[in-house]
Amino acid sequence: MKKALITGITGQTGSYLAALLLKKNYIVYGIKRRTSSVYNTARLEELINFKEYFNKKLFILYGDVTDYSNLDSIIKKIQPDEIYNLAAQSHVQVSFEIPEYTTQVNAVGALNLLNIIKNSQKKIKFYQASTSEMFGCQNKMPLNEKSKMNPASPYGAAKLYAYNLVRNYRDSYKIFATNGILFNHESPLRGENFVTRKITIGISEIFHGVKNILEIGNFNSKRDWGHAKDYVEAIWKIMQYKKPLDLVIATNKSYSIKDFIKECFKFLKIEIRFIGKGINEKVVDKNGKTWIKINKKFIRPKDINTLLGDARLAKKIIKWKNKTSFKNLAIEMIKEDLRRTSLKLY
Ligand code: NAP
Repeated sequence: MKKALITGITGQTGSYLAALLLKKNYIVYGIKRRTSSVYNTARLEELINFKEYFNKKLFILYGDVTDYSNLDSIIKKIQPDEIYNLAAQSHVQVSFEIPEYTTQVNAVGALNLLNIIKNSQKKIKFYQASTSEMFGCQNKMPLNEKSKMNPASPYGAAKLYAYNLVRNYRDSYKIFATNGILFNHESPLRGENFVTRKITIGISEIFHGVKNILEIGNFNSKRDWGHAKDYVEAIWKIMQYKKPLDLVIATNKSYSIKDFIKECFKFLKIEIRFIGKGINEKVVDKNGKTWIKINKKFIRPKDINTLLGDARLAKKIIKWKNKTSFKNLAIEMIKEDLRRTSLKLY
């Protein structure tokens, strides 16, 4: 049985990855940060029978990627075959507010893990959660493994440091170190302050009468959105490939935030239209009720207009192809948040 260590196991993608690896009969270790309130394994518990696996094939230890000695002792103790580094301060807008912390976690965290692997007697494979945000603002689309990197946020810049470090340690120390350059991936388990989840939660709450209006920062940014459950398949396949490499994972289609909103309202069979311009743009229904409007406080100091990926190499090399359409992704998310909101009403 292979042993995997996942940093970021309590997050969206870490939860889907843990569920996938358990299905593949791995022994899965994860590190989680201590929080002052509750156990933060709720997302994982939505995907697996937690009681069945916990402390049998799934082990969760306290840890932090900024704490070298903690990581070192965990890795020495469990001797994993594979490490998936998904831990991050993963919110782009927040990275403008806490750039130094974002750099510690997203860049120095990867450095810590790579140094431990470098000094280890065991050959440990390493996956780095790299991101399309490293491409930043570009004139030419779609983006692939050869595209220039031009990050537009502290988040993207810190991730680019880790990406380059992976390539450097691979070349210098012959470590099996890989980068998955993943474009946006969403799901009903996406963090609640990311735009897709903000939209599905906000619309659900207005629909059920517990909120009046939803405020977001942008209607027009376009992203290449996939489903986290499809993307963790790609992450695993990248690690099983015969040699370490860097691969773009994307759907090869780009849709705007407006498109996502439209899919949600189509599912609800509510007619809406966008009126106004710039920061006055809003979503109104046929009775004139405003559902969504712009609030300046959510506008980023710098934003990327469009991200569109080209995952042809992944299709060729690791035989990975996106499965979930944009429309089905939006429907799954709005359906789940409508259900969750209705449960809170009783
Ligand atoms: P997420 O839901 O925000 O999860 C981030 C995870 O990192 C959480 O488990 C979080 O723990 C953990 N974490 C944060 N700081 C940590 C620290 N100092 N030490 C240990 N763990 C820490 O993000 P995600 O959507 O699952 O994304 C997973 C990874 O893929 C991230 O690295 C992200 O940057 C990258 N990525 C994501 C996307 C996307 O569209 N989702 C695209 C490209 C790349 P808590 O639960 O304690 O907060």
